[in-house]
Amino acid sequence: MKFPNISDTNYFTNRALDNKEGEPTGKIIMWRMKGEEAFNYILKCPFCGHEQEKKEEFAKKPYRPRCENCNKSVVIAKIKKKKEK
Ligand SMILES: [Zn+2]
Repeated sequence: MKFPNISDTNYFTNRALDNKEGEPTGKIIMWRMKGEEAFNYILKCPFCGHEQEKKEEFAKKPYRPRCENCNKSVVIAKIKKKKEK
């Protein structure tokens, strides 16, 4: 899968995904091209390590891509703000 030019997208995120212990063992890069309904994403599952590329429509937020291997879904929630110390 080819990465888009950011200027051709209306959604782009690239973030680490935590497993249930809170360790960032997975990641997702997800974007949507301008004028398209479906999102493209490259997911590394934080639970089983499986990698998949997919094009999929998500009806509403938060978006929840599902791992084809272990069938767990990950939640693309709003980015948490870092707590200031
Ligand atoms: Zn998985």
